Amino acid sequence: AWTDISTGHVYHQQTLYDHLPAFLAEKNPKEIIIPEKLVQNPDLFEILRPYKTILVLQPITSFKKENAQEKICDFYKINCLSILGDLPDASISALGGLIHYIQLTQKSYLPSLSTPMGWLSNQYMAIDKATRQNLELTTNLAGDAKMGLFAHINMCLTPAGSRLLYERLTAPLIDVQEIHHRLDQIDFFINHSKIRHFFREILTKMSDIERPLARIMMGRMKPQDLGAIHANLIKISEIQDFFDLEEKNAFMQEKIEDLGCHDLLVNELNQALAPDLPVSIHEGGFIAYGYAPELDAHRRLRDESKDIIASLQEKYRQETKISTLKIKFNHVLGYFIEVTSLHASKLNASYIHRQTLVNAVRFTTAELTEIQAKITAAHENALAIEIDLYHQLCDKISAQAFHLRKAAHLIAILDVETSLAELAIEYHYTKPVIDDSYHFKITQGRHPIVEKTLYKNTQTSFQSNDCHMTLHNRIWLITGPNMAGKSTFLRQNALIIIMAQMGSYVPCTSAHIGIVDHLASRIGAADNLAMGQSTFMVEMVETAAILHQAGPRSFIILDEIGRGTATFDGLSIAQAVLEYIHTINQTRTLFATHYHELTALRHDLRYLECYTLKVQEWENKIIFLHKIIQGVADGSYGIHVAELAGLPKTVTQRAKDILSLIDQKQHPLQNNKSITDLPLFKSSSNLPNMPAFCVTPPTSCLDDKQVAYLAHIENILCQ
Ligand code: ATP
Repeated sequence: AWTDISTGHVYHQQTLYDHLPAFLAEKNPKEIIIPEKLVQNPDLFEILRPYKTILVLQPITSFKKENAQEKICDFYKINCLSILGDLPDASISALGGLIHYIQLTQKSYLPSLSTPMGWLSNQYMAIDKATRQNLELTTNLAGDAKMGLFAHINMCLTPAGSRLLYERLTAPLIDVQEIHHRLDQIDFFINHSKIRHFFREILTKMSDIERPLARIMMGRMKPQDLGAIHANLIKISEIQDFFDLEEKNAFMQEKIEDLGCHDLLVNELNQALAPDLPVSIHEGGFIAYGYAPELDAHRRLRDESKDIIASLQEKYRQETKISTLKIKFNHVLGYFIEVTSLHASKLNASYIHRQTLVNAVRFTTAELTEIQAKITAAHENALAIEIDLYHQLCDKISAQAFHLRKAAHLIAILDVETSLAELAIEYHYTKPVIDDSYHFKITQGRHPIVEKTLYKNTQTSFQSNDCHMTLHNRIWLITGPNMAGKSTFLRQNALIIIMAQMGSYVPCTSAHIGIVDHLASRIGAADNLAMGQSTFMVEMVETAAILHQAGPRSFIILDEIGRGTATFDGLSIAQAVLEYIHTINQTRTLFATHYHELTALRHDLRYLECYTLKVQEWENKIIFLHKIIQGVADGSYGIHVAELAGLPKTVTQRAKDILSLIDQKQHPLQNNKSITDLPLFKSSSNLPNMPAFCVTPPTSCLDDKQVAYLAHIENILCQ
């Protein structure tokens, strides 16, 4: 069970241990409350290990079914739990523990929470944590949120809109109808620019409703929270007026009605709230004049008393003939009369001494004390009335919480829909077709972030690529040079799936996607030392999870499987994985590799096709065309990329020599010889002028041949 108390939404869901990592990755919790006993379960402990800094251990009692039931009923003020629907035992326990913790930490100001909503995991695409990270959905791999997909697609104008968009991006749907419903809304806003512009304009002037509302309901509000609710409700009535008077539209009718009528509350707040709301309630001034006659009477008294102080000061000046005499105020003495030390002796006995400072002496009089009491009382009375009215207003707002939340949610939806429409227009995205087939046909697909950064940094355009996949060619084995664009191609197709199924237009000219219920990836090299896993171990653990879970409705992208170990081990694993996916998982898969040997599998694996990325050789240089074509790569051009990266010329030249031996099957390893039989540099003419230095081989661990080999290298390098 989970909640965000700042918005008040509560959800519950049952899940299996296997799905828990993906679930936690999707929800990205800030605190995890768990019964002490449960963490002792080794399986669960492993799953929760990455979250150990946010685990909050609680006694098991609050999770026990009977206690939990009581807590939930108490909290929602209901007699019987079944009012909340048919909650499974596990959900009751989790909700009980959650509510107990909220009561523990929020003490007297309990947040208002929605009734628990069941979160059906089978409504959302399963995406594990590593895949989310690899695809850079919310942050890039370096953890920068500005470079993640979310920052790119988020054109929302309100915080609630951004939150909803984030929710949609991290939990793409798998219900075809629901996805099309979302896409149709965007379609509408793309085709109705007047309405879209109207919303974009008005949304810039709106702010959060849910969070100020939650603060009001938790008793942690400030006057400005009431102001925010008021201002937003005014904007909602402007939206309704626009559609009632200016732009009658059948498509929008229901939404606009669902925003609800808040006239009574708006009128009340119109009259009650002062035009300039202070940041805190301590000094008063948040209730408007004219709203409460009793409050105004006390305020008048308080303000008139101030005039009385001014005339009293004038009277005392004339009486004492001290023109510099002043009546001042501080929080210790209240009102007092102050004269300079020089004049202090001129005052008669009716001036009662209060305090002597270095240059001034302070007095009071019976009359001043009496007036002060009146002023203080007036001030205190006014403030007390104001605070009382303020709480009454908060109660009135809280009483409307259900309708306000509904309106807030609709505004967030409108924000998301108009913002996705804007995104689609600005970046020329297309409406995807989603259905129950197993197709994956993307025409001229692009990677949304690489496209944007490429244009921003170099003004060059992104090379779009097709990916036309059906049941009969559902595995694409992609070989190609380093830097050719394999990883980009893999990721862009995965991102297109996520964007399409979250209900967004996608970066391509057409997309036909048979619904994907599980997206899995194995990309890049990262070790997880904290979890005690090496780079290769992480690679294998992730691969194992994919092979165990993927099915025909999944979509897999695999980049460089088997690279983390010895060449032949890696090649063998890669081949076995491919065969397994092809025959057992039967999953749509993009598989990029530098093991060109694997392309021979196209003769044996019926549903596998080979693709490569086009390069052009020109004047001994390689030009990357980033264009995917059917076929097999003729090389990896790794040494060329190493040159581009600035490896010393000596190294790249040496690598070319070795490669040429390999190509001619002359490499010692290919002839059952030792690597020390490798001929050394053909000539030293390629070597830069290197400083003489001495290699001291640890001769104790080397045999004679190796010692001779190192001596030879030292000799060449020192020349
Ligand atoms: P390696 O095998 O070395 O990992 P790769 O083939 O996976 O390389 P990518 O990392 O996908 O290559 O791409 C390298 C760079 O090429 C990207 O950072 C991007 O700048 C550029 N690039 C990739 N695809 C395209 C494209 N379709 N259009 C334009 N530029 C592209």
